[in-house]
Amino acid sequence: GKRAFVAGVADDNGFGWAIAKSLAAAGAEILVGTWVPALNIFETSLQRGKFDESRKLPDGSLMEITKIYPLDAVFDNPDDVPEDIKTNRRYAGSTNWTVREVAESVKRDFGSIDILVHSLANGPEVSKPLLETSRNGYLAALSASSYSYVSLLKHFLPFMNPGMSGGSSISLTHVASKRIIPGYGGGMNSAKAALESDTRVLAFEAGRKHKIRVNTISAGPLRSRAAKAIGF
Ligand code: NAD
Repeated sequence: GKRAFVAGVADDNGFGWAIAKSLAAAGAEILVGTWVPALNIFETSLQRGKFDESRKLPDGSLMEITKIYPLDAVFDNPDDVPEDIKTNRRYAGSTNWTVREVAESVKRDFGSIDILVHSLANGPEVSKPLLETSRNGYLAALSASSYSYVSLLKHFLPFMNPGMSGGSSISLTHVASKRIIPGYGGGMNSAKAALESDTRVLAFEAGRKHKIRVNTISAGPLRSRAAKAIGF
């Protein structure tokens, strides 16, 4: 069977959860990366059976998540983490959650993976029109929603199984990269345009070097937590 790492699962409403379920139904082993501030409530809800109904697979069994890794994809190394995050009480209880450390942990625990899914995005100023977006807000949107994918792929690639049968990576993009979608602000349109352009370059580079496929899916609307937060 295949082993998949799905980054960006913190409840049962988003694309990450749905993709994990489809992969589990197809026989894959599921590992997830959960945003550090959301980890506690996700683990607690899972343990208390809150997601049992939505864990149901077509054969009647329940999706098993083999391991949940705390992850904050805007940091690559411990050295990148500023003091206020390090000491934040929502982060203090977890360790090894920068991208490099999560990759190292997954490699140590499982040796290799076949599928990498990036299902995360964040734009702190998403509700502001681009004309009112600050430089920091814009760069934060690109850091969390675009570079996070470059970084994840870069760190996972060395231990992804190559070839025709495995070796695949996907992310989720949004039509706002190409068309004006009022409300999708804060530089999130730019972040998705970067993600799409990077997908082409990464497919070229990762395909040549490691025989790993790289694709992005332009998803239709889903009332996930992220979508509700911006009133979609
Ligand atoms: P979601 O809220 O289920 O998923 C987003 C996840 O990103 C959350 O679990 C959140 O905790 C996580 N996250 C945010 N910042 C993070 C960080 N720094 N490090 C690690 N994790 C972080 O919402 P979703 O709508 O399912 O989003 C998944 C993907 O689908 C995103 O890339 C989104 O842009 C894309 N998408 C969504 C829609 C839609 O209508 N919902 C449409 C097109 C594309």
